[in-house]
Amino acid sequence: MNYCSHCGSSNLETKIPEGDHLPRIVCENCETIHYLNPRTIVGCLILNDKNEVMLCRRGIEPRLGFWNLPAGFLENNEGVEEGALREVLEETGATVKLKGLHTIYNVIKAQQVYLIFEASMLDDHYELTPESTEIKFFAQSEIPWDEIAFSSNVFALNHWIAKSNGTTSELAIGTLELK
Ligand SMILES: [Zn+2]
Repeated sequence: MNYCSHCGSSNLETKIPEGDHLPRIVCENCETIHYLNPRTIVGCLILNDKNEVMLCRRGIEPRLGFWNLPAGFLENNEGVEEGALREVLEETGATVKLKGLHTIYNVIKAQQVYLIFEASMLDDHYELTPESTEIKFFAQSEIPWDEIAFSSNVFALNHWIAKSNGTTSELAIGTLELK
């Protein structure tokens, strides 16, 4: 941040405000404290009626060409369920029904929190988009583990398999501590 988003001043200092415990960017002109907090990514693990999972080949960076679950950044003024449905529609053209929260995944150093919902297809329709150059359903034995885009996806897929085996509970929370 080079300028205060409140008053436009460039007189910014990083310091621990009174009563706080972490350094913040503080505007010395208008005294606004600029808090930086993690961003929320919402998405879906979508199953068809054959218990196969939808993966999308990424048409955009980062991890161009790798497979991932449809997901993206939550917008302001949007609920997490609404955001997950929107991301699925934008990336795959599919309309799905949410079944419940599947995984929460912290990527600590990237300032990201993933919320992945389990969902089912409402019909057979999906389509390629600029964000998804290939869309395919995979059985558990077919998952291309070496080509999965993000560890958050790997965590969600592993939890799906564990849930299918009856070895774990309904919701899992994971963390990646990047160096
Ligand atoms: Zn200011």
